Amino acid sequence: MRKPRLILVFCLLCLTAFWFFTSPAGCTGQETAMEVSNMEEARRLMVEQLVAYGVTDQKILAAMGKVPRHRFLPAGYMTSAAYGDHPLPIGHDQTISQPYIVAYMTECMHLAKGEKVLEIGTGSGYQAAVLAEIGADVYSIEIVPELASHAIDVLKTTGYACHVKCGDGYQGWAEYAPFSVIIVTCAPRELPEKLVEQLAEGGRMILPLGNVFSQRLVILRKKDGKIEQEEDLPVRFVPMIKK
Ligand code: SAH
Repeated sequence: MRKPRLILVFCLLCLTAFWFFTSPAGCTGQETAMEVSNMEEARRLMVEQLVAYGVTDQKILAAMGKVPRHRFLPAGYMTSAAYGDHPLPIGHDQTISQPYIVAYMTECMHLAKGEKVLEIGTGSGYQAAVLAEIGADVYSIEIVPELASHAIDVLKTTGYACHVKCGDGYQGWAEYAPFSVIIVTCAPRELPEKLVEQLAEGGRMILPLGNVFSQRLVILRKKDGKIEQEEDLPVRFVPMIKK
């Protein structure tokens, strides 16, 4: 009689320990001290890897060391896996970009504090949070309504005051134009004209250009009303949806 009881107690203890170490914050709404410190450590390692990959901008490294990337992901990924250097699914056939690409694209834009930035493809809201953490005035457009409302919620609970709307990124956000920086995180086949128009004089824009098989990051600069265009890394982003 004693043995089965002991086994039962042992099993219950194991289950409790398993729940304690694996339960994502999203299930309870609150993180335990251990979860907080696990995530801090995961972020520290992620930043170390960004440095090893050649990211040098201290503002970006500090911001990415602070923004809780796991909180922007669906419940199943709210673990230290969120900090691996790879994209992850966020539902609706979309992905959050890998940390290196977020850092790289941001670094290419040489952002100054207070600059007005338009992001196309809010997705999880993570890139918007990183930009806000750096001190940018962030406007972000997402075409999938569920993703837009999820991003609005997480940005609010994590304390980032970004302006997010559900809409078609090809139209830009004329009401708040011009923008000093435009970051496009989905790939159009051709340069979206309205975005080029909404770029401020002296402004910079970065976008992945191409189809699902072949894309390159392109960097644009507006000088004296003219556009200078430079091709950069080959990349792979989800397509920019045309309505
Ligand atoms: N920056 C995001 C990753 C975005 S993935 C992050 O940090 O998580 C690309 C996003 O672009 C997807 O969420 C997709 O729905 C969105 N998207 C695709 N076409 C779009 C369009 N025409 N306008 C606005 N958003 C678009």
